[in-house]
Amino acid sequence: MLGKMMYQPLLISSLIEHAAQYHGDTAILSKEVNGEMTKSDWLTVSNNSKRLANALQALGLKSSERIATLAWNNRRHLEAWYAISGSGMICHTINPRLFPEQLAYIINDAEDQALFFDITFLPLITAIKEHIKGIKHFIYLGDRDEKVLEQLPNALFFDELLADNSPDFDWPQFDEKLASSLCYTSGTTGNPKGILYSHRSSVLHAMALCMPDVSSLSAQDVLLPVVPMFHVNAWGTPYAAALTGCSLILPGPNLDGDSLVSVIDDYKVTVALGVPTIWQSLLTAAKNRGSKLDSMTRTIVGGAACPPSVIKTFREDFNCDAIHGWGMTETSPLGTMNQIKAKHKSLSKEEINELRKSQGRPPYGVKIRLMDTEQKDKPVAEDGESQGRLQIRGHWVIDDYFTENKDAITADGWFDTGDIATIDADGYMNIRDRSKDLIKSGGEWISSVELENIAVEHPEVKMAAAIAATHKQWGERPVLIVVKEADSAVDEAQILEFYKGKVASWQIPDKVVFVDNIVLNGAGKMMKNNLRDEHGDILLA
Ligand code: ADP
Repeated sequence: MLGKMMYQPLLISSLIEHAAQYHGDTAILSKEVNGEMTKSDWLTVSNNSKRLANALQALGLKSSERIATLAWNNRRHLEAWYAISGSGMICHTINPRLFPEQLAYIINDAEDQALFFDITFLPLITAIKEHIKGIKHFIYLGDRDEKVLEQLPNALFFDELLADNSPDFDWPQFDEKLASSLCYTSGTTGNPKGILYSHRSSVLHAMALCMPDVSSLSAQDVLLPVVPMFHVNAWGTPYAAALTGCSLILPGPNLDGDSLVSVIDDYKVTVALGVPTIWQSLLTAAKNRGSKLDSMTRTIVGGAACPPSVIKTFREDFNCDAIHGWGMTETSPLGTMNQIKAKHKSLSKEEINELRKSQGRPPYGVKIRLMDTEQKDKPVAEDGESQGRLQIRGHWVIDDYFTENKDAITADGWFDTGDIATIDADGYMNIRDRSKDLIKSGGEWISSVELENIAVEHPEVKMAAAIAATHKQWGERPVLIVVKEADSAVDEAQILEFYKGKVASWQIPDKVVFVDNIVLNGAGKMMKNNLRDEHGDILLA
């Protein structure tokens, strides 16, 4: 017998409809490429996305066609997002920091029909224009601009499309399983792969994101997604923001520590999300400026392992909870989030600090497990000690890649993340490493994450990457690549000394290489494959 309850498809348009109806006057602030902070609200964003939906239809664009964006987190980008997905097309957010060849590759792979872009990316588009012939419409996210027309004579202008179209538009109703958006992985470990989200998966993910044990997002919050909309849909926050009707601060292109401290203090941000490298520079800037980040109650840190020192500084020096989470493009990205349980309340501060270092436990909606690294079908004990390949399944986890890949899922329906982890009896998961980043010394594993976390605790180390270097006797040995703090005279011996007593002596790196800079990819992660290419043979000399 079927239940007798209403059925409504879970569509992305329902999120913006809700925000417009019940939170219409809640502020959306947006830092534009020219540095200006503009003010809007959910009702205006909703009306503009409907105007744009009319415009897209008039251009002949159809349901399920891919429409790309190359843009920062700003108000026009948000309106384009809702217009595209809301009207049944697929919003393909592109990471602008990919190599131009990779960029052309994914635009063609996705068969994008139109491309929205910020002025920053005009030179990039001009450079690859000849290789992306499938794009029928280039739409500049701004008002009419002659500079744009010189490069792209047929360009359309976002502000003109808004002015020329009515906000009367009924969002179409369709199957919630249809695709809503497309993101490619940031390619840290190989060629970018497309992940095609559905309306259903995106809405369920947004609901989960708001739960108290995840980000506890509500209409009382002022949310700052530092994580770009092209990095796994800003971790789903623009959807969750509309769902809760919270205020949204879109930070635009300037994501340096100083700019972020200003935005947080000026607009009283309560919750922000980003990768660890962002928070490291934010903490330095806040300290230098004497800001206490008073309005911030919590930050959500993920995308790469967060050094425990960052979590501790947020809590102890800024009275701001730092919540460590784990996820992937393939998991929308919410996989686990580190929040404590009632039984942990009696623990000492030190014990809680220890517990909060891990990447946390899964919310309702996803499950995780560990499998043996050699024997594929053998489960690994969830005892907090044994390491295995981390696998995941759930409502917002991929079933297959955009371009079919038969091996994406195990025979029994789990996605293998390529991460090596431990899980304890309460479900708290600890990422030991990416399988490709693990350092295998004489058959024993060394976690590059652990070596990096220790290095950045050293007051004179700004950034550190531990890589596997080929070694004649041991196969691989760890080498540490270090960027020093400005004016530091720290040397190799001092850094190696710093490891003593923190890891077993055989895990201490063989060598420290000082560099001026470690290249980050578009998502703010260290490009460790480049470092391996460059320094991987250093111990053979
Ligand atoms: P890419 O795979 O191209 O880097 P993703 O953004 O999808 O793109 O990266 C997902 C990976 O990032 C995970 O598989 C994991 O290795 C790493 N990761 C994400 N969050 C964390 C975290 N909190 N701690 C450690 N690693 C993390």
